[in-house]
Amino acid sequence: MSEGAAKKEEKPRKFQAIRGTRDLLPPETALWNRVEQTAHEVFVTFGFGEIRPPIFELTELFARAVGGDTDIVSKEMYTFAPGYDPNSEEESVPGRTLTLRPEATASVCRAYIEHNMQQLPQPVKLYYMGPMFRRERPQKGRYRQFYQIGAEILGGPDAPAIDAELIEMLMTFFERCGLQGTELSINSIGHAADNCRRGYVAKLREALTKVKDHLGRDSLRRIETNPLRVLDSKLEHEQAIVEKLPRIADHLCEDCKTHYAAVKRELELRGVIYRENWRLVRGLDYYMRTTFEITAQGLGSQNAVCGGGRYDGLVELLGGPPTKGIGFAIGEDRLMLSLQESAKGAAPQGRDVYIAWMGERAYATATRAAKDLRKAGFSVELPPTELKFGKALERASKLASRFALILGDNEVADGQWTLKTLADGSQQKLAEQALLEYLRTVSAGS
Ligand code: AMP
Repeated sequence: MSEGAAKKEEKPRKFQAIRGTRDLLPPETALWNRVEQTAHEVFVTFGFGEIRPPIFELTELFARAVGGDTDIVSKEMYTFAPGYDPNSEEESVPGRTLTLRPEATASVCRAYIEHNMQQLPQPVKLYYMGPMFRRERPQKGRYRQFYQIGAEILGGPDAPAIDAELIEMLMTFFERCGLQGTELSINSIGHAADNCRRGYVAKLREALTKVKDHLGRDSLRRIETNPLRVLDSKLEHEQAIVEKLPRIADHLCEDCKTHYAAVKRELELRGVIYRENWRLVRGLDYYMRTTFEITAQGLGSQNAVCGGGRYDGLVELLGGPPTKGIGFAIGEDRLMLSLQESAKGAAPQGRDVYIAWMGERAYATATRAAKDLRKAGFSVELPPTELKFGKALERASKLASRFALILGDNEVADGQWTLKTLADGSQQKLAEQALLEYLRTVSAGS
């Protein structure tokens, strides 16, 4: 390369986050932390433990668990080119590739099997949170790197109480977050047997074939590949057609009917309000019985904040023993959008105390004061360079500080520190210990 060309390349260049990804910034990140903290707290009270699976896995794991026929697997996965990592043992097998996770249920089930969790007391209750990756067309509430908080219950008995308690936990979490206008929809999609869902799907296919001239391209294709997914259709002109199709509730086997009735009873027992939606389906064979979805206000067309369902066959499909399973995934980005929309989430990131110091001696005292106040749990801003008091107080209020601690030569000399309440401008003089006590008392009361 010529020197000239090298120079040209070194020219400063402005970079931007990739479309469909974004920086989460303060003060919004304070809200994210609060929501995640709430999840940790609520889930632990229901006996869940956190799992942190890796961000990438074998492509095949997702292909199997999510289903090759889904949009996610067929066109949305970030897969490394074959041979991308010459040092990867997994990749050295021809045909094997690695993929950034588009969801985490597959990883949780893989981990359950890999770590022999079936030997632990059952069921095993796990939750996770973190980024997922899908090559979707970006739009409001739809990102290519997005975040999910999810939970899975693996193993244990065939008990409708498990489904209901998981949903109860979810609704408790949303309530604690202050999410407005939540609506829980539930359904049962039976199980893959001739006298249950398979029989229903055959009837559905028949009914769809009769109206095929009125269906859009996607639905037409799905008559063969996955007729259940036609019920998901959002196309305006298909709505009237879908409403007239046979409904799964009329075709459930006795066991699945009993299970569904029991889930509803169990929800009522827990005071969880739900709505039934017979169109809530999942297209894969191992999904069975309970499916559910939660919508919230302020999200427009992408208003689902959470989807979940029972998947009793999945662990077995991934090479484990027959194991019951149910879980959900909350779209954290959408949860935040909805919280911000309803203003519940506005979290001004102010400071408890801004230390306005002047002079060398005052600076030494100020650094010690900052250390002690932070140790006591207060957020403290200590300006790194000396500012005139007027300027310092201006900064303090720009940073939405509650108090300004004024430390000048006088304060240091007589050990009486000046504390200014910025909301009303009042000032008082307090000795160091009394000041700490005072701050503790007022912050406990607010
Ligand atoms: P799924 O894993 O597809 O069942 O999605 C569960 C939840 O994750 C959805 O209800 C959404 O809230 C959220 N979600 C899914 N895909 C995206 C995306 N591309 N961007 C933001 N949130 C998403």
